[in-house]
Amino acid sequence: MPHILVTNDDGVEAPGLLALAQGLRSLGQVTVFAPNHNWSVAGHSKTMHKPLRVWSVALEDGSPALTTDGAPSDCVALAALGLVPQPIDVVVSGINTTPNLGFDVTYSGTVAAAMEAAISGWPGIAVSLDSGEGERNWATAAGAAVTVTRLVLEHGLNAGSLLNVNVPDVTSEQVRGYRVTRLGQRVYRDVLIERTDPRGAPYYWIGGEPPTGIQEEGTDLDAVSHGYVSITPLHMDMTQHRLLDSIRRWLA
Ligand code: MN
Repeated sequence: MPHILVTNDDGVEAPGLLALAQGLRSLGQVTVFAPNHNWSVAGHSKTMHKPLRVWSVALEDGSPALTTDGAPSDCVALAALGLVPQPIDVVVSGINTTPNLGFDVTYSGTVAAAMEAAISGWPGIAVSLDSGEGERNWATAAGAAVTVTRLVLEHGLNAGSLLNVNVPDVTSEQVRGYRVTRLGQRVYRDVLIERTDPRGAPYYWIGGEPPTGIQEEGTDLDAVSHGYVSITPLHMDMTQHRLLDSIRRWLA
Protein backbone atom coordinates (compact mmCIF):
# COMPACT_ATOMS: atom_id res chain seq x y z
CA MET A 1 0.00 0.00 0.00
CA PRO A 2 1.51 3.38 -0.96
CA HIS A 3 2.34 5.88 1.77
CA ILE A 4 1.35 9.46 0.94
CA LEU A 5 2.60 12.54 2.82
CA VAL A 6 0.02 15.33 2.76
CA THR A 7 0.86 18.93 3.60
CA ASN A 8 -0.30 22.44 2.70
CA ASP A 9 0.46 26.12 3.25
CA ASP A 10 -2.96 27.28 4.46
CA GLY A 11 -2.44 25.56 7.81
CA VAL A 12 -3.48 22.30 9.45
CA GLU A 13 -7.04 23.52 10.08
CA ALA A 14 -7.73 24.44 6.44
CA PRO A 15 -10.70 22.69 4.80
CA GLY A 16 -8.65 21.97 1.65
CA LEU A 17 -6.16 19.87 3.66
CA LEU A 18 -8.95 17.75 5.13
CA ALA A 19 -10.56 17.24 1.71
CA LEU A 20 -7.18 16.21 0.24
CA ALA A 21 -6.35 13.79 3.07
CA GLN A 22 -9.80 12.20 2.90
CA GLY A 23 -9.60 11.79 -0.88
CA LEU A 24 -6.10 10.30 -0.88
CA ARG A 25 -7.01 7.67 1.71
CA SER A 26 -8.64 5.82 -1.21
CA LEU A 27 -5.11 5.26 -2.61
CA GLY A 28 -3.14 4.24 0.46
CA GLN A 29 -1.88 5.23 3.87
CA VAL A 30 -1.91 9.00 4.46
CA THR A 31 0.30 10.91 6.90
CA VAL A 32 -0.71 14.55 7.38
CA PHE A 33 2.03 16.97 8.44
CA ALA A 34 1.15 20.63 7.96
CA PRO A 35 2.03 24.05 9.42
CA ASN A 36 0.10 25.32 12.45
CA HIS A 37 -0.72 28.63 10.76
CA ASN A 38 -1.17 30.11 7.29
CA TRP A 39 2.06 30.34 5.25
CA SER A 40 0.45 31.39 1.98
CA VAL A 41 2.81 33.34 -0.31
CA ALA A 42 5.74 32.44 1.95
CA GLY A 43 7.67 30.77 -0.87
CA HIS A 44 10.35 28.18 -0.31
CA SER A 45 11.90 28.44 3.14
CA LYS A 46 14.11 26.42 5.42
CA THR A 47 13.95 27.34 9.10
CA MET A 48 17.47 27.34 10.49
CA HIS A 49 17.51 30.27 12.92
CA LYS A 50 15.03 28.90 15.46
CA PRO A 51 13.96 25.50 16.80
CA LEU A 52 10.99 23.74 15.23
CA ARG A 53 8.27 22.34 17.47
CA VAL A 54 6.06 19.46 16.33
CA TRP A 55 2.69 18.53 17.86
CA SER A 56 0.17 15.72 17.33
CA VAL A 57 -3.30 17.04 16.57
CA ALA A 58 -6.59 15.70 15.18
CA LEU A 59 -8.22 16.88 11.97
CA GLU A 60 -11.92 17.77 11.98
CA ASP A 61 -12.83 14.15 11.13
CA GLY A 62 -10.83 12.91 14.15
CA SER A 63 -7.94 11.51 12.09
CA PRO A 64 -4.41 12.12 13.43
CA ALA A 65 -2.07 14.75 12.00
CA LEU A 66 1.29 16.32 12.79
CA THR A 67 1.72 20.07 12.88
CA THR A 68 4.68 22.41 13.32
CA ASP A 69 5.49 26.10 13.69
CA GLY A 70 7.71 25.70 10.62
CA ALA A 71 6.96 26.32 6.94
CA PRO A 72 5.34 23.89 4.48
CA SER A 73 8.80 23.07 3.10
CA ASP A 74 9.97 22.43 6.68
CA CYS A 75 7.21 19.81 7.07
CA VAL A 76 8.59 17.91 4.07
CA ALA A 77 12.21 18.40 5.18
CA LEU A 78 11.47 17.15 8.71
CA ALA A 79 9.67 14.11 7.28
CA ALA A 80 12.62 13.41 4.96
CA LEU A 81 15.08 13.72 7.84
CA GLY A 82 13.29 10.95 9.74
CA LEU A 83 10.47 12.56 11.67
CA VAL A 84 8.08 10.41 9.63
CA PRO A 85 9.76 6.97 9.90
CA GLN A 86 7.72 5.02 7.27
CA PRO A 87 9.05 5.32 3.68
CA ILE A 88 7.13 7.89 1.63
CA ASP A 89 6.07 7.26 -1.99
CA VAL A 90 4.67 10.68 -2.92
CA VAL A 91 4.11 14.12 -1.34
CA VAL A 92 0.86 15.95 -2.12
CA SER A 93 0.45 19.59 -1.06
CA GLY A 94 -2.86 21.43 -0.90
CA ILE A 95 -5.62 21.86 -1.63
CA ASN A 96 -4.73 25.53 -1.75
CA THR A 97 -7.65 27.94 -1.47
CA THR A 98 -6.46 30.08 -4.37
CA PRO A 99 -4.82 29.20 -7.70
CA ASN A 100 -1.07 28.93 -8.24
CA LEU A 101 -0.63 29.88 -11.87
CA GLY A 102 2.32 31.25 -13.82
CA PHE A 103 4.72 33.27 -11.66
CA ASP A 104 2.65 32.35 -8.57
CA VAL A 105 4.69 29.15 -8.31
CA THR A 106 7.66 31.20 -7.08
CA TYR A 107 5.65 32.72 -4.21
CA SER A 108 3.58 29.70 -3.31
CA GLY A 109 4.15 27.75 -0.10
CA THR A 110 1.95 25.01 -1.59
CA VAL A 111 4.28 24.59 -4.56
CA ALA A 112 7.36 25.03 -2.33
CA ALA A 113 6.36 21.91 -0.37
CA ALA A 114 6.21 19.94 -3.64
CA MET A 115 9.62 21.41 -4.60
CA GLU A 116 11.03 20.29 -1.25
CA ALA A 117 9.70 16.82 -2.06
CA ALA A 118 11.57 16.88 -5.38
CA ILE A 119 14.74 17.93 -3.55
CA SER A 120 14.20 15.10 -1.07
CA GLY A 121 13.96 12.58 -3.92
CA TRP A 122 10.18 12.10 -3.78
CA PRO A 123 7.60 12.89 -6.45
CA GLY A 124 5.80 16.09 -5.47
CA ILE A 125 2.33 17.27 -6.44
CA ALA A 126 0.86 20.71 -5.62
CA VAL A 127 -2.92 21.08 -5.91
CA SER A 128 -4.75 24.42 -5.93
CA LEU A 129 -8.35 25.45 -6.45
CA ASP A 130 -9.05 28.35 -8.81
CA SER A 131 -11.60 29.51 -6.30
CA GLY A 132 -14.21 32.16 -6.68
CA GLU A 133 -16.53 33.58 -4.06
CA GLY A 134 -18.69 31.59 -1.67
CA GLU A 135 -18.94 27.80 -1.51
CA ARG A 136 -15.81 26.09 -2.78
CA ASN A 137 -15.81 22.85 -4.75
CA TRP A 138 -13.25 21.02 -2.63
CA ALA A 139 -14.58 17.65 -3.87
CA THR A 140 -13.65 18.55 -7.47
CA ALA A 141 -10.08 19.36 -6.49
CA ALA A 142 -9.81 16.31 -4.22
CA GLY A 143 -10.99 14.11 -7.11
CA ALA A 144 -8.40 15.62 -9.44
CA ALA A 145 -5.71 15.17 -6.76
CA VAL A 146 -6.60 11.48 -6.44
CA THR A 147 -6.46 10.99 -10.23
CA VAL A 148 -3.09 12.73 -10.61
CA THR A 149 -1.58 11.04 -7.53
CA ARG A 150 -2.71 7.61 -8.78
CA LEU A 151 -1.01 8.30 -12.13
CA VAL A 152 2.20 9.47 -10.45
CA LEU A 153 2.27 6.38 -8.23
CA GLU A 154 1.79 4.25 -11.36
CA HIS A 155 4.32 6.00 -13.64
CA GLY A 156 6.70 7.83 -11.27
CA LEU A 157 8.33 11.20 -11.99
CA ASN A 158 11.87 11.94 -13.15
CA ALA A 159 14.24 13.04 -10.39
CA GLY A 160 13.82 16.72 -9.58
CA SER A 161 10.33 16.93 -11.09
CA LEU A 162 7.01 17.97 -9.61
CA LEU A 163 3.49 18.55 -10.90
CA ASN A 164 1.59 21.78 -10.37
CA VAL A 165 -2.14 21.07 -10.58
CA ASN A 166 -4.82 23.79 -10.72
CA VAL A 167 -8.48 22.89 -10.62
CA PRO A 168 -11.39 25.07 -11.77
CA ASP A 169 -13.88 25.86 -8.98
CA VAL A 170 -16.84 24.03 -10.51
CA THR A 171 -18.63 20.75 -9.76
CA SER A 172 -16.94 17.53 -10.91
CA GLU A 173 -19.57 17.17 -13.66
CA GLN A 174 -18.73 20.64 -14.99
CA VAL A 175 -14.98 19.91 -15.36
CA ARG A 176 -14.22 19.64 -19.09
CA GLY A 177 -11.19 17.37 -18.70
CA TYR A 178 -7.43 17.54 -18.13
CA ARG A 179 -4.87 19.66 -19.97
CA VAL A 180 -1.10 19.31 -19.71
CA THR A 181 0.18 22.89 -19.77
CA ARG A 182 3.14 25.22 -19.49
CA LEU A 183 3.34 28.10 -17.01
CA GLY A 184 1.54 31.21 -18.21
CA GLN A 185 2.24 34.85 -17.39
CA ARG A 186 0.55 36.37 -14.40
CA VAL A 187 -0.26 40.07 -14.39
CA TYR A 188 -0.05 41.39 -10.85
CA ARG A 189 -2.10 44.45 -9.97
CA ASP A 190 -0.29 45.26 -6.73
CA VAL A 191 -0.41 48.80 -5.41
CA LEU A 192 1.51 50.45 -2.58
CA ILE A 193 -0.78 51.37 0.28
CA GLU A 194 0.69 53.78 2.82
CA ARG A 195 -0.82 54.17 6.30
CA THR A 196 0.28 55.94 9.45
CA ASP A 197 0.76 54.19 12.80
CA PRO A 198 -0.44 55.72 16.12
CA ARG A 199 3.01 57.32 16.63
CA GLY A 200 2.94 59.05 13.25
CA ALA A 201 5.35 56.72 11.43
CA PRO A 202 4.37 55.42 7.98
CA TYR A 203 3.90 51.72 7.26
CA TYR A 204 3.06 49.96 4.05
CA TRP A 205 0.93 47.21 2.58
CA ILE A 206 1.30 45.55 -0.78
CA GLY A 207 -2.38 45.74 -1.73
CA GLY A 208 -4.49 45.84 -4.85
CA GLU A 209 -6.80 43.65 -6.87
CA PRO A 210 -6.23 39.90 -7.40
CA PRO A 211 -3.86 39.09 -10.28
CA THR A 212 -5.06 38.43 -13.79
CA GLY A 213 -3.01 36.80 -16.55
CA ILE A 214 -2.21 36.75 -20.22
CA GLN A 215 -4.58 34.32 -21.95
CA GLU A 216 -2.35 32.26 -24.19
CA GLU A 217 -3.18 28.81 -25.51
CA GLY A 218 -1.28 25.95 -23.90
CA THR A 219 -0.83 27.69 -20.58
CA ASP A 220 -2.12 26.82 -17.10
CA LEU A 221 -4.01 30.15 -17.00
CA ASP A 222 -5.82 29.34 -20.24
CA ALA A 223 -6.73 25.78 -19.20
CA VAL A 224 -8.37 26.61 -15.85
CA SER A 225 -10.17 29.62 -17.26
CA HIS A 226 -11.78 27.29 -19.82
CA GLY A 227 -12.87 24.76 -17.19
CA TYR A 228 -10.03 22.23 -17.50
CA VAL A 229 -7.82 20.80 -14.76
CA SER A 230 -4.31 22.07 -15.54
CA ILE A 231 -1.27 19.85 -14.93
CA THR A 232 2.04 21.69 -15.35
CA PRO A 233 5.21 19.63 -15.00
CA LEU A 234 7.94 21.67 -13.26
CA HIS A 235 11.61 20.95 -12.72
CA MET A 236 14.06 22.09 -10.07
CA ASP A 237 16.69 22.80 -12.74
CA MET A 238 15.97 26.48 -13.34
CA THR A 239 18.87 26.91 -15.76
CA GLN A 240 17.98 29.01 -18.80
CA HIS A 241 19.63 26.64 -21.27
CA ARG A 242 19.03 29.01 -24.21
CA LEU A 243 21.36 31.59 -22.61
CA LEU A 244 24.29 29.27 -21.88
CA ASP A 245 25.94 29.77 -25.29
CA SER A 246 25.16 33.50 -25.48
CA ILE A 247 26.82 34.22 -22.16
CA ARG A 248 29.81 32.03 -23.10
CA ARG A 249 30.12 34.21 -26.23
CA TRP A 250 30.04 37.37 -24.06
CA LEU A 251 33.05 36.02 -22.21
CA ALA A 252 34.97 34.90 -25.31
MN1 MN B 1 -2.21 29.07 0.61
